[in-house]
Amino acid sequence: IKKIGVFTSGGDSPGMNAAIRAVVRTCAFLKINCVGIFRGYQGMIEGDFKPMDARSVNNIINKGGTILKSARCQEFRTAEGRRKAYEQLTAEGIDAFVVIGGDGSFTGAMIFNEEYGFPVMGIPGTIDNDIFGTSNTLGFDTACNTVVEIIDKIRDTASSHNRLFFVEVMGRDVGHIALNVGVGAGAEEILIPEEDLGLERLVESLKRSKKSGKSSSIVVVAEGDKIGKSVFELKEYVEEHLPIYDVRVSVLGHLQRGGAPSCYDRVLASRMGVKAVETLLEGKTNLMVGIQNNELTLTPISKAIKGHTKIDSELIRVSDIMTT
Ligand code: ADP
Repeated sequence: IKKIGVFTSGGDSPGMNAAIRAVVRTCAFLKINCVGIFRGYQGMIEGDFKPMDARSVNNIINKGGTILKSARCQEFRTAEGRRKAYEQLTAEGIDAFVVIGGDGSFTGAMIFNEEYGFPVMGIPGTIDNDIFGTSNTLGFDTACNTVVEIIDKIRDTASSHNRLFFVEVMGRDVGHIALNVGVGAGAEEILIPEEDLGLERLVESLKRSKKSGKSSSIVVVAEGDKIGKSVFELKEYVEEHLPIYDVRVSVLGHLQRGGAPSCYDRVLASRMGVKAVETLLEGKTNLMVGIQNNELTLTPISKAIKGHTKIDSELIRVSDIMTT
């Protein structure tokens, strides 16, 4: 392998830039050429390439988003689109790539590898932490820190006015962000897709916490929660069945995705970037770099995209105890 391409694809997340930097600098260190591919698979199809050297990634470790831009690309889902991508890569002399993204981006890479035998390596980048084969994805830690900081602020208002807040957080169909920030910010209840609390039990629990002397309450709701209600419907339900609270809703939305990456995400991205390049140079392909028990691991991409992440049952227990 003489020239490695690197790109970001799908939803952006903090730490992607740190991972790009790590891939580029590892290539420079090992005297391999490195090419940045802009706008994910779209840029690959269009040949939107730029040679990267160690200096082209100065001052990006601290930046959110991705300097290579990200995109969703329908054309890459077709054999014709992937053929164009292959022609562009070979014309540029790129003979392996590192994809930083989520399971959709990994699926594309896996299919591409099957069709052309092209060496591919994945780095998991998404705030949702919903990828099998790693305990942390890039951006998850930063997003949790961002959300905890915001909930702390919401709590100031909640306790000053005796209010109950439903705070909806991201996470697609998993509850990792909700559970972690719920414990970290001391929420009174945490609603996650993996556990169905049920509306009646929610109201009972809020009643109990009011009785026990709490003047305000924060309920963290994962966007994919299966209680079957939007946060606004939850507000209506609770107002009707528990009229003692002034209920408010806050949907945090995209501010959870941005911002400077945490130290943890920067370090993780740096480690994963080094490992991705080294693993490609060992002749391996179709793997995702992950972290488990603070050690870097390699998981076949086919498993990473099919497997389901498990919610931490010990953390659920801790949250149950903390919310009494
Ligand atoms: P993420 O990587 O964050 O899960 P997406 O699901 O949007 O984001 O996937 C990113 C891109 O990966 C898509 O826009 C598409 O170009 C490519 N991709 C996703 N699924 C496939 C597939 N089944 N075949 C080929 N390419 C795919």
